[in-house]
Amino acid sequence: MGVPFRLVIYAESKERAQAAAEAAFARVSALNRIFSDYDPDSEAMRLSARAGTGDWHETSPELRTLLALAQRFWEDSDGAFDVTCGPFVQLWRKARRSGTLPSAHEVADARARTGMQHVVLAPVGRSVQLQREGMRLDFGAIAKGFALDEAIRVLNSHGFPRALAEAGGDVVAGDPPPGRSGWRIALAPLDPSAEPELFVELSRRGIATSGDAHQYVLIDGVRYSHIIDPRTGIGLTQHCIVTVVADTGAEADACATTAAVLGPGRGLAFIEARPGAAARFVVGTAEGRERHTSRLWSRLPLLQRDEVIDDKDD
Ligand code: AMP
Ligand code: MG
Repeated sequence: MGVPFRLVIYAESKERAQAAAEAAFARVSALNRIFSDYDPDSEAMRLSARAGTGDWHETSPELRTLLALAQRFWEDSDGAFDVTCGPFVQLWRKARRSGTLPSAHEVADARARTGMQHVVLAPVGRSVQLQREGMRLDFGAIAKGFALDEAIRVLNSHGFPRALAEAGGDVVAGDPPPGRSGWRIALAPLDPSAEPELFVELSRRGIATSGDAHQYVLIDGVRYSHIIDPRTGIGLTQHCIVTVVADTGAEADACATTAAVLGPGRGLAFIEARPGAAARFVVGTAEGRERHTSRLWSRLPLLQRDEVIDDKDD
């Protein structure tokens, strides 16, 4: 998935914790072999290679699960979240390397190969068909969160519920550390070189951040994000960071990307319609920073920086 995974486990026996961690990392590797878009032999890439042939592919349970979840996100977001956006992602990766915008023709060509409406899930069983030639699945906005959920599930099944899993800044928190009400997690600031100002204490929940902070290309003074609006095929140009807390890592991951595409107005309405989810936007404007939060956000156990560093337990 292109990022290191980290586990934190409270345990009485280092050896048993080590064995559990190895099992959790093995699970993450197995998921990487299913979802990676860097590995041409991953299941997602093998399925993509058969797009447009009329073939049905019998998927793994995990691929089928994430495709079904992604389909619901696509429907609920009116197409803002779309795991078939691989052709656009490829185009914008090329733009990041070359520093030049994709041409209108290239965007139109990628658009013809994009769209969840061209993914057919058999109503029973696990068969899937991609109907357009040149389609390419991209689980970059959801697989990491799902893998974190799975890592915590494996640790739990090995008898270690007090655990946390992190990858690329996204976190799934299990049961809290002994004597604490939750895991303290710093919220990523808009400027990645700045110190975090806000923290949240979470247990048995996922938290994910999306935005243009790390991956973007600057062309003619405009910043284009690695997150793409599938309806236009263009990388997002609003400088913002969205943090979402939700019941699972997969939900938080997909919600954060969706909210980033929808922007603060429609994005927060999208989050508020999902039970258990809460979100915060920080938008960079010419005048400074704007913050927008969903209704449930203020109910989270939030801590300011000084409250965290004053706390001797930390
Ligand atoms: P995240 O960091 O979770 O927001 O995911 C960003 C990654 O998801 C990108 O690098 C792409 O691989 C993929 N992606 C970009 N735009 C979208 C989109 N609109 N819907 C689903 N996946 C996307
Ligand atoms: Mg995401």
